Amino acid sequence: AKTTGRNALCFFDPEMQAAVNANAAVSSELHIALRKQEFVLHYQPQVDSQGRVNGVEALLRWHHPKRGLVMPTDFIPMAEETGLILPLGRWALATACEQLAAWAAWPQAADLSIAVNVSVRQFRHPDFVDQVMAEIRRTGIKPQHLKLELTETLLADGMDVTLARMGTLKALGVTLALDDFGMGYSSLSLLKRLPLDQLKIDKSFVAEVLTDPADAAISRTIITLAHSLNLKVVAEGVETQAQQDFLVAEGCDQFQGFLFSAPLPIEALEAYLMAQSPP
Ligand code: C2E
Ligand code: CA
Ligand code: CA
Ligand code: CA
Repeated sequence: AKTTGRNALCFFDPEMQAAVNANAAVSSELHIALRKQEFVLHYQPQVDSQGRVNGVEALLRWHHPKRGLVMPTDFIPMAEETGLILPLGRWALATACEQLAAWAAWPQAADLSIAVNVSVRQFRHPDFVDQVMAEIRRTGIKPQHLKLELTETLLADGMDVTLARMGTLKALGVTLALDDFGMGYSSLSLLKRLPLDQLKIDKSFVAEVLTDPADAAISRTIITLAHSLNLKVVAEGVETQAQQDFLVAEGCDQFQGFLFSAPLPIEALEAYLMAQSPP
């Protein structure tokens, strides 16, 4: 239909139409990828101050038939926009729980936790808690081995739902971590009301912890704050021994970063675990 006016102009704007088409193309591409099982989880070790691995973070990768390994920053935003993050996030949760169940019989890995990233949209979905409960039951894992990494964006609004849902997850025995702490909306008074177990210091602070006094102060403050709220602190993006030494001296509890290992495909991770503690 031929129309006139501002809206029509907007709709027929070729650039915008191209963007709409690209969106739709990516959206259907993502759906097909999920169906064809092109997504995988890589696992990055998390170590304690003695260097012992006590868990891993699950990070999504897409084995694209033409583009090769695609990183999450290149598809998560689109997955969130199109809603595909719901089935994709559910798949990641199920896969991580299956991995935990497989490790239960394996001495090197029986006590490890797996941290799963949960997008805001996924957390807000009314079925989310039921899905977590169903996966725990289906796989028979110890709930505390499942760690959910939530982001500060959850604190921006809908606090009542957020608090209630976190309370239910906590009652299930699941471990709750607040990811990228200090990057977004942080309300200290809300923080004390959240049933959290861990705070993660964002890698942007860790990166300059030795060169930027402000980042050193922020990291130190996060550690002190976390401990005074009885939370453990995980530093992400630890790349050098000097960063590690600084964070250990400040009392940080767990560490994750290229200094220890990049995120690894499951076979490489299991080889890494075997090398850490030979049977
Ligand atoms: P994040 O949760 O903050 O994850 C940490 C990111 O830092 C990962 O990037 C990891 O590979 C990277 N990293 C680890 N060690 C180092 C280091 O020493 N130095 C540096 N510079 N980077 C390091 P990745 O894997 O590209 O993931 C990016 C983001 O994508 C994640 O950030 C997370 O927000 C999101 N993401 C990944 N997997 C999932 C998922 O299953 N669900 C959801 N909702 N989001 C996910
Ligand atoms: Ca994370
Ligand atoms: Ca981060
Ligand atoms: Ca800085």
